[in-house]
Amino acid sequence: MTAELLNGRELSDELKEEMKHEVEILKQQNIHPHLTVILVGDNPASKSYVKGKEKACDFTGISSNLIELPESVSEQELLQVIEGQNNDKDVHGILVQLPLPDHIDEQKVIHAISPLKDVDGFHPVNIGKLVNGEETFLPCTPYGILTMLESKNIEIEGKRAVIIGRSNIVGKPMGLLLLERNATVTYCHSRTQNLRELALEADILVVAMGREHAVDGSYVKEGAVVIDVGINRMDNGKLTGDVEFESAKEKASYITPVPRGVGPMTITMLLKNTIKAAKGLSEK
Ligand code: NAD
Repeated sequence: MTAELLNGRELSDELKEEMKHEVEILKQQNIHPHLTVILVGDNPASKSYVKGKEKACDFTGISSNLIELPESVSEQELLQVIEGQNNDKDVHGILVQLPLPDHIDEQKVIHAISPLKDVDGFHPVNIGKLVNGEETFLPCTPYGILTMLESKNIEIEGKRAVIIGRSNIVGKPMGLLLLERNATVTYCHSRTQNLRELALEADILVVAMGREHAVDGSYVKEGAVVIDVGINRMDNGKLTGDVEFESAKEKASYITPVPRGVGPMTITMLLKNTIKAAKGLSEK
């Protein structure tokens, strides 16, 4: 079997066109979706992610502003900036680009963002809602993956899903979303034994380890759907995933490439969440 490509770039372009239209209609109703992005320090990767987010906002007509703070900013100053944005009724979404410098407690910062403006979906209130199966802002990367699966009508109910990686931003919420859709979910992580054996049970295999080509075709069951979340920079400067694409695609029914797979979907779902926030829908 040679897998069909799940092209995140194409799907995200389609979704952005739809959102552009939706934003136009919202503006006619005097709702102007606005996202504030807060960037601390000058980590080049963070700067490039932030640029991508601004560009995507521009395309869809969502206004955005970037608050750049020096690496030396104190935790207290950052919390005050967030408070200002929480209180600004023209700001619908707030995103603090992670990671933050070591002297700032990331969790404290996430807690400080109003859950109603938490378009990353990282606030404990929103995570709690996700666990309960309530309406909330879904964390963007798992939300993007779910949207890709749905776009191809890939069946989730009753399927075995294996998630490799248990981070708060990808692995954990991904498993919850699939569980909510009635998959049988197994979480794997760095202490998991028999990783390959477990991966081979997956109908849907999501790999989010941050380890270049750690999973090859020998981890993939014939016909499985393979989602590669990893973004790793190779020695030649190019980006690659956690999955060794060439061997995995011979086994999989569907597979995401890197780049042009999960990455573009993540930004797109941030826009979706910002529009949702502008409409005040997270409360329902
Ligand atoms: P993380 O470092 O927080 O978590 C990695 C997880 O992988 C951990 O839970 C760890 O237990 C597990 N792991 C590590 N080595 C393992 C091993 N040998 N066997 C089994 N499990 C192992 O990373 P993260 O934030 O979840 O990101 C994972 C990858 O996804 C990174 O490459 C990151 O750049 C990428 N990422 C991509 C997007 C996107 O939009 N495409 C978004 C977020 C993260």
